[in-house]
This record gives sequence, C-alpha cells and structure tokens, in this order.
Amino acid sequence: MMTPLDNISAAENFMTVLREGRMIRGAYNDIADDGRHLACAYSAAVSGADTTKNCPAAVMPQEVADLTPWIDDAGTACTCSADSGSLEDRAKTCTWHRNLLRYGTVMARWHVLSPDDWTGILRRFRGKCCVSALASAAKVVPPDAPYWPSVQKASIAISDRLLRGEEPSEAEAAEAAKAAKAVVAARVARAAVWAAVAARVALAAVCAAAAAVWAATWAARAADADALIDHFLTLVETAVAKREAATREAMRAEMIGINQSRNRVGKSRAGRLLDGREWNEMPGALT
Ligand SMILES: [Zn+2]
Repeated sequence: MMTPLDNISAAENFMTVLREGRMIRGAYNDIADDGRHLACAYSAAVSGADTTKNCPAAVMPQEVADLTPWIDDAGTACTCSADSGSLEDRAKTCTWHRNLLRYGTVMARWHVLSPDDWTGILRRFRGKCCVSALASAAKVVPPDAPYWPSVQKASIAISDRLLRGEEPSEAEAAEAAKAAKAVVAARVARAAVWAAVAARVALAAVCAAAAAVWAATWAARAADADALIDHFLTLVETAVAKREAATREAMRAEMIGINQSRNRVGKSRAGRLLDGREWNEMPGALT
C-alpha cells in the first residue's frame, strides 16, 4: 500500500528535483532532451501533478498550493551559471535558488502549523500584496485619475486589517469591490495597469478568492515579486520556528518533571538502603 503523501515526503521529493537541477518554471512538467523528468515547484512536491487543484491536505493548505507556482515563476529567474556548484552555493548568490531552497526546507517542517496559524500567515501575506500593489500603482497612476482616491482608501483599509491578521469587514469589502469596479469602468491605460492590480488585490483580498490574488501579484515586476516571496517565506519560517520553540519548551518542562520524580524515587531508595534493613536487596526491587 502506498503511504499517503505528507509534507515531509513531499519536501523530500521537492529537494531531490531541486538538487538534481530538474526544477523548471512556466510549466508543471516537461521532458528534457536527455529524457529526464522536469517539474515545477508544485509538481516536484506532489509528483507529476499538472494542476494545484485538490492538493492533499497533509502536504499544504490549498491556498499555499495555489501560491506555489507563483513562488517558482514570478520572481527573478535563475542567475546561476552551469558550474555554480551545490544547491547551497547557488542559494548564496541566486535569488531563485535561494527562495526554492527556503521553500523546500520550511515545507519539511510546517506540519507544526495549525489551520489558524496558516490563516494568520495568509492574511498578513495578502495584506503585504495589497501594500505592494498600491505602492507600485501610485508610481504610474495619472494624478487626476478619478478612481484613484477610492482605490487608495479601500486598499489601505483592507491591508491594515489583513496586516493585523484580521479579516476585513463587510463594509470594507463592499468599498473595495466598488473601487475595483470603478477602475474597470475607467478602462485604464497600460501605464495605470498597477491601479487595476491594486484594485483587484483589494477585491480578491476581501473575497478570499486566492486565485485572483495570485493572478494579480503574478503581474508584479520580478523585483516586487522577489520581495513578496521573501515576505511569504519569512512569515512561514517565523511561525514554524515559534511552534517548534513552544514544543521544545513543553518537552523541556516534561523532562524536568521526570527528573524531579526520579530524584525523589532515588532519594527514598537511598534512604531505605542506608537504614540497613534492605541492604541485600537489588535497588530495582525497592519501591
Ligand atoms: Zn540559480
């Protein structure tokens, strides 16, 4: 019987593909000229997948699955030369390799996260996407764009909520939806494409339509995507480290408890031996 895939075995699959130089961007799977199987970040983890739909829950939440191709594809492309050496060496100088190494490493550890932990991470991440999209939009939006003040207001309200790990209110959601519609109605010129992105992020953040968020951030320039990917990985790494530290602390407390009770047993045994009455008994026989 096949063992169901969990995050640890998925991370092993992922790291094998990454180490062997078989990870690709822009397609789920491919075959190299030499016949080797090439896989994207998601398909490497969930072997052979050609969609992120129906991701096994033991591997990662669906929203993280939907985000995974973006982590692979949206940032700066690999800058390694053919003889760049080991994965760890590559990760020192290449952003793409560094991000994927961090992703695979934290995947092997993220089973310690609760559903609430993930909700908090994803809200904060969506908040950051919102901030990033708005900042980029502000650079290119025409100063007199009639839709801009409402996009700005709605996006800020949404991102403030999300960055605190809270879900935006219905009123804030309605504002964002209205602002997004205004942008669409204005048929923004290419220069203002970021305003549309900002509005879509604001809207998607509220609707929790994950795919729309990723689609919006996907359009981000590679440098913006690099910063967002780094932010997402940092959120996950920090939450995992916090959970692991709490587990270590609980184990430490338990060990102290066990040692203290052993000491008490040891003392009582020593007392009985010293009083001479049970000198010929093996210590193991004493209670
Ligand atoms: Zn590289």
